Amino acid sequence: MSTASKPKNIIKAPKVSNQKLFINGKWVNSISGKTFATLNPATGQEICQVAEADSADVDLAVKAARKAFESGPWKKMSAAERGRRINKLADLMEKNLPELAALESLDNGKPLRDSLNADLPLSIKAYRYYAGWCDKTHGKTIPVEGEYFCYTKHEPVGVVGQIIPWNFPLLMTAWKWAPALATGCTIVLKPAEQTPLTALRMAELAQEADIPDGVINVVPGFGPTAGAAITSHMDIDKVAFTGEGSTGQLVMQAAAKSNLKRVSLELGGKSPNVVFADADLDAAVEGAYFGLFFNQGQCCCAGSRLFVEENIHDAFVEKLVARAKKQRVGDPFDMATTQGPQISQEQCDRIMGYIDVGVSEGANLLSGGKRVGSKGYFIQPTIFSGVKDNMRIAKEEIFGPVMNILKFKDVDEVVQRGNKTFYGLAAAIWTKDITKAHRLANSLRAGTVWVNCYDVFDAAAPFGGFKMSGIGRELGEYALSLYTEVKTVYINLG
Ligand code: ADP
Repeated sequence: MSTASKPKNIIKAPKVSNQKLFINGKWVNSISGKTFATLNPATGQEICQVAEADSADVDLAVKAARKAFESGPWKKMSAAERGRRINKLADLMEKNLPELAALESLDNGKPLRDSLNADLPLSIKAYRYYAGWCDKTHGKTIPVEGEYFCYTKHEPVGVVGQIIPWNFPLLMTAWKWAPALATGCTIVLKPAEQTPLTALRMAELAQEADIPDGVINVVPGFGPTAGAAITSHMDIDKVAFTGEGSTGQLVMQAAAKSNLKRVSLELGGKSPNVVFADADLDAAVEGAYFGLFFNQGQCCCAGSRLFVEENIHDAFVEKLVARAKKQRVGDPFDMATTQGPQISQEQCDRIMGYIDVGVSEGANLLSGGKRVGSKGYFIQPTIFSGVKDNMRIAKEEIFGPVMNILKFKDVDEVVQRGNKTFYGLAAAIWTKDITKAHRLANSLRAGTVWVNCYDVFDAAAPFGGFKMSGIGRELGEYALSLYTEVKTVYINLG
């Protein structure tokens, strides 16, 4: 029986005690002795204290990662053996699946049903997928002129710094760790300050999976301190970052000013989701709904500009509002809950601010718009129609359960308006007309285009952004290049 089909509410929030940093295979306090609280977003109460890393701790973690990279057993291990250990980590995640899912829901607030059915399976799949790549990533032999034998090698980039956000803590850890481990890199990971718990638990499981000491180091802390210490460190070879665009710019600046470390960025979006009159309307309503409200609207690829063709607009909006009324907002540990709290008071205030902006800009507030309860950070699923391209709610990333509906008339117009954004992470199209589907898939400038579906992810298929939505592609074979350097070798045969 799969965990997801267990009886209702059987999985309880775990008891968690204070947490330390994980450096060189040891659990240690921060050098400053400082700690910070991680909160339960459903209640606003402290879950526990977590050791707070700063630059001195990051430095120790980098030294451990460097040593593990240069001279530890990791370097000598065969690629196939690395793959076996990554698979073992995936096995341990399966063994501890309910506990990991509960820890994720406790720290992040996402409904347990989503942790069980989305975050955990997708994370496990990422480790298994990259475990398979370990002994399959290789170079070429190249027919150069002259009496030379020339070949390339794909070598690990070295010590990698990884900085992740709070919206999918386990999954973002998996997207970062799996390709880095597969290619033989060593890691210093900083989880988001709001959600450090599952990355720390994963470090424990990695040790149980015989990933050698120093290969994975986890340093919870804040962006401007621990995060900045990673991005500006002279002995980190590459930084992989997921988060806000403005932070991504700081990451790139710091990399440029320090040692020109390689940078990959997965940033925000304002993705167009386009519904044509000839679409299967019920499927499109469900897709539009899921595409925005999944994960409390806290997805970088959320379909946050919903373009609906003029002649079905009113009927479509009516169905959508009816669908929003079915959302169950509440306790993440109740298996009937479909929407949990936002991550923090700060995000909650920011989203409520955007709802006020939408009203004052003249959009029609059709549903929601208020907080739910007085405890925790819950917000009603909110729908605006009559949204215009130049409104702030149509241009800026809200990162919450706020849907913006815009009307359009024809294909050329919607392509032009869909692309009128600095972002380019994702797009979707709902139509039964294959020509229209292909035409839009060709014309929309986005890293992923979904046709008659939304939020489909697979470890084998790349994900990342055009334009200001990022640099590089995670997942799939493409991500291997983020973690490798190509070396060219000439052998004189003369
Ligand atoms: P979000 O809105 O998702 O919190 P952020 O970009 O602020 O987006 O945060 C994503 C990650 O980046 C977090 O782990 C955060 O601590 C980290 N971070 C924030 N500021 C910086 C910075 N100046 N340098 C490096 N990392 C940072």
